[in-house]
Formats: sequence, C-alpha cells, structure tokens
Amino acid sequence: MFSILAAKPKSSERNKTGSWRSTKMPRLLKKECINCGLCAYICPEGCIEGKDKNQYSVDLDYCKGCGLCAYICPKNDVKMVENQPQGESKEK
Ligand code: SF4
Ligand code: SF4
Repeated sequence: MFSILAAKPKSSERNKTGSWRSTKMPRLLKKECINCGLCAYICPEGCIEGKDKNQYSVDLDYCKGCGLCAYICPKNDVKMVENQPQGESKEK
C-alpha cells in the first residue's frame, strides 16, 4: 500500500534534506524494538535501515521529519524530537 509513496533510498541528491526538514526529527530509542521493520517500510525517504532488534538507524541527511516512523512503531520506540543543529544530523 505504501510502496507507491516510497522513493528509492538515497536515490537522488534532490532527496537530501538540506535546510528544509520539518521542525522535528526522529530519535530511535533502541530499547523496546522488536525488529518488525515497520519504520523502515513506511519511511517515504527510505532512510531507515536495520536488521535486528534495537539496531535500526536513520540517515538524517535524507529524513524530512514527517513522523511516520514514530507513528507506526508498535513499541513507541521512535520519538520525534526537536531538530538538532546542522552538522549533528547523524543518528546511529
Ligand atoms: S520522520 Fe521517519 S518516516 Fe519521516 S522521513 Fe524521517 S525517518 Fe522517514
Ligand atoms: S517500528 Fe519500532 S519496533 Fe519496529 S523495527 Fe522500527 S523501531 Fe523497531
């Protein structure tokens, strides 16, 4: 259902967030993750990757701050927080 919305991960420099991410960014808490993969599946920018519990990460260079990953996470293990200053955008 969501596949028509998704872009290929990092497929274009045009997808880079640059200065226009929304006021929020996701933080993966890595405490309750059950490796369901929903956050990675729903992300329209394809910028969440992971293969095991509490091992998911987001490339904030491509994140637009839409909040879908936090919305879909069944364990509330993704929180939307205030944007960090430029240069501190790597969430690992
Ligand atoms: S907020 Fe989450 S779903 Fe939205 S673009 Fe960023 S990582 Fe992807
Ligand atoms: S949606 Fe939540 S529980 Fe599922 S893989 Fe992502 S962080 Fe883990």
